[in-house]
Amino acid sequence: MKIYNTLTKKKETINPLEKGKLNIFVCGPTTYNLIHIGNARTFTSFDFIVNYLRHKTFRVNYIQNLTDIDDKIINAANEAKEDPLKFSEKYCKEFLIDMKDLGNTAVSKYVKSTEEMKNIISQIERLLEKEFAYKTNDGIYFNISIDPEYGKLSGRTALQAEDAVTRVDSSSEKKNKGDFCLWKFAKENEISWDAPFSKGRPGWHIEDTAITEKEFGPQYDIHGGAIDLIFPHHEAEIAQMEAISNKKPFVKYWMHAGFLDMKKEKMSKSIGNIITLRDLLKQQSKETIRFFYASAHYRNRIEYSEENLENSKNGLDRINNFILNLNNQDDKELETTKKAFYAALDDDFNTPEAFAKIFEYISYCNKNKKGGKDTLSFFKEVNNIFKILNFNQEIPEEIIKLAEKRLKAKKDKNWEKSDQLRDQIQAKGFQIEDKEDSYLLRPN
Ligand code: AMP
Repeated sequence: MKIYNTLTKKKETINPLEKGKLNIFVCGPTTYNLIHIGNARTFTSFDFIVNYLRHKTFRVNYIQNLTDIDDKIINAANEAKEDPLKFSEKYCKEFLIDMKDLGNTAVSKYVKSTEEMKNIISQIERLLEKEFAYKTNDGIYFNISIDPEYGKLSGRTALQAEDAVTRVDSSSEKKNKGDFCLWKFAKENEISWDAPFSKGRPGWHIEDTAITEKEFGPQYDIHGGAIDLIFPHHEAEIAQMEAISNKKPFVKYWMHAGFLDMKKEKMSKSIGNIITLRDLLKQQSKETIRFFYASAHYRNRIEYSEENLENSKNGLDRINNFILNLNNQDDKELETTKKAFYAALDDDFNTPEAFAKIFEYISYCNKNKKGGKDTLSFFKEVNNIFKILNFNQEIPEEIIKLAEKRLKAKKDKNWEKSDQLRDQIQAKGFQIEDKEDSYLLRPN
């Protein structure tokens, strides 16, 4: 399988550090509010990818962090007049509920930043010792000018990106504009941890390298996140860990997911154009939302709109309906489809291309009355990766017969009979939804 590596700017075949095993880390949320559907797009993209890597029999250890201490958390907790740790704990829990409700289950372990304080402090001590880090009046900073390779991931050395400005560490005593904070000295009445160099709290980037060093060691296979994290966050992680361990590359493959937009603008709390996942899940099934995410390549932007979501719902109905109406005639077209489907996923996880192959196959089967047991097994495989299909709808034979009769009545324009049959189906506990030339049955 090939994936696009942001570090080398090429598609590369995945070749694990240890045969058959992949250590993967994806940046999790900063827990001070409910996540929006843009955040959820990134987490679901990696859920799909990890499910697929496991399908390919890699043994994947997938860790995600929860940033549970940060300026944003402290500010939001102050506003709510709550203790910051209790405040972030509440949103950690909400996040895990959201992930479960959306069907994201691939993560092996979530680790909170505050659980790794010992290694955060140890990493800063090692950076001070090697003189990559220095003290100012308000904290400890990483000196980017000592690292000749700083900028190798993003191609940047200074903070130029609009999307990075919210997380710039400013201090009047910094040696370089781009130096980033490793440790913020405690302010009065602010939450802090004891450390040999001074009481305080960690900077953002050190939290992740402390977790991954503890979980995986100084080097690992795949690091993911959304595209806005390339700079300065991921650049800083590389600088820190490679300075500490001297082992390169810190991470072999860097994968970055594109944004979810609304009205052609990145969905973001600061712009105010957000829909929480919690709210969308009240209106749409998790399967529809997942399928909507899969409708775009993970590296491309995806536009949220009611219409696009409706299209995903219709596409999914088409697949579910096809599964419900399978007969028992597979032919060689299935093998051709399987090959093309997996070839698309093997090519940097090209989901739109993979599902296009599925829809072509459905059209072929509908036209030629094909698709049987082996087709069903293939769709179950697909579902193990994406968790979008509905196999639990055990529709009794009797109901299917009524639905077929109704389809015929509709074709004959016998509306009275068609209505009577719909009422009978409903009375027996099923909904029937009309589709062009077919129908979809669901239990009430
Ligand atoms: P945060 O809680 O701000 O640290 O964000 C959590 C994750 O969601 C990070 O990987 C962000 O880059 C990602 N993210 C934020 N906004 C969007 C968006 N509109 N589309 C996709 N991913 C996003």
